Amino acid sequence: MKKALMSILMVTVLLGLLVSGISCTKTKTISLNLSTLSFTATQGASNPKLQTIEIRDSNGGTFDWSVGSSAPWITLSPTSGISSANTGTFTVDVNTDGMSAGSYNASIRIFVPGATNRLQIVPVSLTIKNPSQLQVHFIDVGQGDSILLDLGTTEVLIDGGDGHTNIVPYLQQYVDGSLEAMIATHPHDDHIGGLISVMNNFDVDMVLTNGESYGTSTYSDFMDKAWKETPEVDYVSRGDTFTVGNLAFKVLNPEESLPLDINGNSIVMELDYGSVTFLFTGDAQWDSEVSMVDAGLIHHIDILKVGHHGSDTSSTEEFLDKTSPEVAVYMAGIGNSYGHPRPVTISNLKKIEAKIYGTDTCGTITVTTDGSGYTVSTAKKCSIATPTPTPKPTPTPTPPIGPCNPNCECYSYTLHNDIQCSQAGAICKDGTCSMSRGSGTCSHHGGVRKWINCP
Ligand SMILES: [Zn+2]
Ligand SMILES: [Zn+2]
Repeated sequence: MKKALMSILMVTVLLGLLVSGISCTKTKTISLNLSTLSFTATQGASNPKLQTIEIRDSNGGTFDWSVGSSAPWITLSPTSGISSANTGTFTVDVNTDGMSAGSYNASIRIFVPGATNRLQIVPVSLTIKNPSQLQVHFIDVGQGDSILLDLGTTEVLIDGGDGHTNIVPYLQQYVDGSLEAMIATHPHDDHIGGLISVMNNFDVDMVLTNGESYGTSTYSDFMDKAWKETPEVDYVSRGDTFTVGNLAFKVLNPEESLPLDINGNSIVMELDYGSVTFLFTGDAQWDSEVSMVDAGLIHHIDILKVGHHGSDTSSTEEFLDKTSPEVAVYMAGIGNSYGHPRPVTISNLKKIEAKIYGTDTCGTITVTTDGSGYTVSTAKKCSIATPTPTPKPTPTPTPPIGPCNPNCECYSYTLHNDIQCSQAGAICKDGTCSMSRGSGTCSHHGGVRKWINCP
């Protein structure tokens, strides 16, 4: 099964780009835009024709282009899919059996006989994903949400930013074949606007919404496209569960009757991958949080997508106490007019000692997990809002110990094994002797403390 899945891989190459991102194990297409190579005709050839395209493994044969030759350079037929001398598309099957996860490099060599620069070599890269490693990309879309979940050949997109943000190039690096599921948490533009161009560029197997309609052209364009171009459009609400590949989601919000406002009715989903848990909240607000807490649905999770871009209408203290995430990701644009994230949200997150990441300062944030541990990486170096340590309780003054001899500067006590020790540290002040413990190894437990006067 695995072998069959892994055996075909096609690669996307955009000539003219130095390196094209190629990932994974489903069908991809090499797109050759030969016009970018600017061959020059010589030897009387007024219209140089592409004659051969060759492809070579530049890693010393560590992987096998399955087009069928053991020669270091493999000649492909230029006729397969190439429509003219200057542009065209062809596909290459790559056998990835036995290749471990990682990045590989290769070159494509193109000959155009009759041209002065008849040989051109284009580097390409190939990334083999670890099929059990989940990556959750909190994509920097400015003021908006877009989250890509990528597990082997399964990809799920939650929201797509607004229509001005083009996430397609980012997705192309990770999506193998079709996008298995697209989830629109709620119909606001900053969540669904960008999903329209995603549907223009990818096959989407399933679109899930909360079923709430909205009177904007973005919403009607989005739904029109979804109905027309995806085989399944469905509504989800509290209590639903669904599985995409090996990813199992629980829907915690909204209630089926959609009792709250547009943000409040956002789809909220929990994803448990091994022992690592995520909560995706859309723009859910305080009333959604109360409703989920009251329904007994909220418990500790590891990674929280902070509700509503870090607005103070979300992230109530009770909700944060109950979720107590280790990592909190808010998604907001630099200098947005809403003042997101709000200081009170950040301070509430600090109180629960979450590590706070924001797309405004970190760019895209990626959580990678194998189901037991996880790592967080960020596109930009950013200052992570680190937890403020729990305020130390006002130190209770050390109780005075024994009557004070103005000269008392040391003490000793006997441990139960009768070892005697003494150390400086007793301080005499205002008639009482108090102890300031030094670094000595004497400890109180089990010992008999005996105060002595200084010699
Ligand atoms: Zn929003
Ligand atoms: Zn919203």
